[in-house]
Amino acid sequence: MVSGSSQRALLASRRVVLGGGEVPLEIVAACLVLDGATIEAVHRIDDDCYADSLAELVETTGGSLSDYGDRLISPAFINPHTHLALGFLRGVDLRRACRGNLVEDLFFKVEGRLSPEDIQAFARIGAYDSLLCGVGLVWDHYYAGERVAAALREVGLAGVVAVTLQDLAGPGKDRWEAALEATAVIDDDEGLRSQGVYSALGPHATDTVSADLFGRSLALARQRELPIHLHVAQSPEEYQRCWERHGRSPLGWLDELGVLSEAPATVLVHGIYASRADLALLTGGPHRLVFCPYSQLVFGFPAAVGLWSELGLDWVVATDCASNNDSMNVQKELRFVAGQRTVGATWSDSFREFLEQGGPEHAAAAWGVRRALFDAHHQLAEPEALLGRVWAGPGAMHPRFTAGVLAPGALANLIVWDLDHPAFWPAVDPLHCLAMSDPLGAMWALYVAGRPVGEVGDVAGSVLRSAEYQAAHQEANERIKRILATLGG
Ligand SMILES: [Zn+2]
Repeated sequence: MVSGSSQRALLASRRVVLGGGEVPLEIVAACLVLDGATIEAVHRIDDDCYADSLAELVETTGGSLSDYGDRLISPAFINPHTHLALGFLRGVDLRRACRGNLVEDLFFKVEGRLSPEDIQAFARIGAYDSLLCGVGLVWDHYYAGERVAAALREVGLAGVVAVTLQDLAGPGKDRWEAALEATAVIDDDEGLRSQGVYSALGPHATDTVSADLFGRSLALARQRELPIHLHVAQSPEEYQRCWERHGRSPLGWLDELGVLSEAPATVLVHGIYASRADLALLTGGPHRLVFCPYSQLVFGFPAAVGLWSELGLDWVVATDCASNNDSMNVQKELRFVAGQRTVGATWSDSFREFLEQGGPEHAAAAWGVRRALFDAHHQLAEPEALLGRVWAGPGAMHPRFTAGVLAPGALANLIVWDLDHPAFWPAVDPLHCLAMSDPLGAMWALYVAGRPVGEVGDVAGSVLRSAEYQAAHQEANERIKRILATLGG
């Protein structure tokens, strides 16, 4: 039956990435039917009668057809933890602050000077940066989250907004009631929902939030079926405070509070100081740990994700903020994940002995360590596993919607790739390239929440030339000048 829906769009290609999550990825000829912000249906097509099958589908389904021929259609990337507005600190001299606690020594001081209008203006630039990195959905965590949601809507990026909640320390500590209210307001906003913008609870961390505020967050999360998105076990100071105040580790305390057993879902960011006993608390629950490789390299050191995998825990990959990463390119992080299968050898005793003494025996011993690591962690580097950490994995974190897969009901966030671009050449294994190459130059078309971003064939150029981007850039420039002037003083 022809529905006559004016919103319906058909996107077809001989190469569409289907599967993800429990289902293996495959590249097949298919036609996606988009209805509004979501994928309504996915029709596999017989490659031998591709044109005829498409014509028939258009006839029966209605709507306009975009046939991308041999170009590859894949899910857009998901960045499951960021602070879009913090890009304004990109390039500010962090060298001194990186020696200590970056969050407390620098961020809290500067963030206290931002107005809600500053946050919206800076979040817009972070949103544009994300789109041009092939990201269709972000999980953002920031003060004045309602302004971040507004920026997402203006720019046309989908997102899950967690309004940062604090009541013990940090720049938001006197505004937690308004922040809880804003969380509910974002959740109730149907206009935001139609553009793929959702809500989550955002307690900041275990040392900046009281048991009482965790209790209120948990109650709201349960009432509205929202995930709880927070930083946990990210610094030794946080760990120590938790230990002194509650006699438990950060994850141990969350367990005691009922957050781990009662929340509809949790998104647990960093988890560097999470022991085996802490990690065991996460087994089997609706929990996702978030690994932010390049950010952790700057503010701390990389979490033990090899162990997370060994323990069978679900974990995803994010950028964190531009200020301690410099990039909103979540795909780029995957190469660091792949490197986990060998990097430990550099700091092994065997290699240290080789560096001190040289000689073939020590060289062989160091290689032995590398081989053992490789055998233990080789699956971390498989393209399908890597892509799952920025596609289906984070796409399944919110109880109320799915993304990161091209399947009925999922958010219609997808990229069309030009496989003739040299970054894919010789294009025998596009999934490998999507995980390990620099494919962004080959981004031919981008759809977020069912809407095309920019122009087909020139996504980045057309976005940058748009009046909307020019105005957003100008406003952000004017605002950052004032902020940096106060920093320098
Ligand atoms: Zn963060």
